[in-house]
Amino acid sequence: MANLPPVQIENIQKALNLTQKLRSNVTQLFQKLSDGFDDVENNDKTLLSEIQKSLGSVNKDFSDLETGSNSLTQVTGSGNSQLLCIDPVIDKTSTYSQILQSYKWTDKMREQAAYAHALIKENPFKRTHVPSGLFPKRIRRNQLAYSYPPNRLDELINLLQVQYIDTMNISVVRPLGSSAVVQVVLGKTLKALLVFRGIVIEWVKVKGFMEEFQNEDGKVDIWSSSRYEVFRKITNHVTAATLHYYLPEMPDLAIKSIMIWLQSYSTLFSAPCQKCGKFLQNGLPATWRCLRTKKAYHEQCKLMIQMK
Ligand SMILES: [Zn+2]
Repeated sequence: MANLPPVQIENIQKALNLTQKLRSNVTQLFQKLSDGFDDVENNDKTLLSEIQKSLGSVNKDFSDLETGSNSLTQVTGSGNSQLLCIDPVIDKTSTYSQILQSYKWTDKMREQAAYAHALIKENPFKRTHVPSGLFPKRIRRNQLAYSYPPNRLDELINLLQVQYIDTMNISVVRPLGSSAVVQVVLGKTLKALLVFRGIVIEWVKVKGFMEEFQNEDGKVDIWSSSRYEVFRKITNHVTAATLHYYLPEMPDLAIKSIMIWLQSYSTLFSAPCQKCGKFLQNGLPATWRCLRTKKAYHEQCKLMIQMK
């Protein structure tokens, strides 16, 4: 552009302005066409005359642009900028595909966030029901939950073990001091590891029956996840359920309830989904159990029920 004579620059500027004007008038015309038909019966003459006027101005703009474009000559000598369109670098870098990928992910994330928002709005999971103004009371209650006597928890677990000896094998170890690590083996289906702090379940991992919760040194490994997607999904569901069953006022009932609920996973590979009636969806069995009825649902089917 810098090497062009001023007359040419002026002509280009005029042509650009005319194009802009033409576009604006065409947009207005379409806008009128889309808006105006609602009341065409009452006011058809006004509408028609307006459209006629718009069409006239579009026509005029177009002729102006045509006349103006005749005065333009082909721009030569603009140097390397002409070669930009055949620049191979853009094909060699992965920027475009990365941006596309990011866009897809952002879009997906927004969609999921909308689902999450709808669900959280319906089920406000709070670890306390005390209004926010009453802080000291809340702290006291939480302290009570965290300082639950270890032997009391052991007694409770033993009681549950006796009660559900046919379906569950529950054991307690305390490798991290006073925090209890409870391992639940559910038939030949899965193993769950629940890390307690006082009476509060702070960490959950679920693995397959053939997987171990021990590292190479034979120590309890609470961090590694299952190598199977199905158990990683269940880990998420059980973690969410710990919030649902959190009841520091009645710790015995809370732990018993979650254990009974966990027991419903013994039909993980044998129960069809209660919504769609199928066993598999996206290659996964029904990984969610209703917190009230303990019935089996696929993750997607659960979302559909909760969105209703
Ligand atoms: Zn289903």
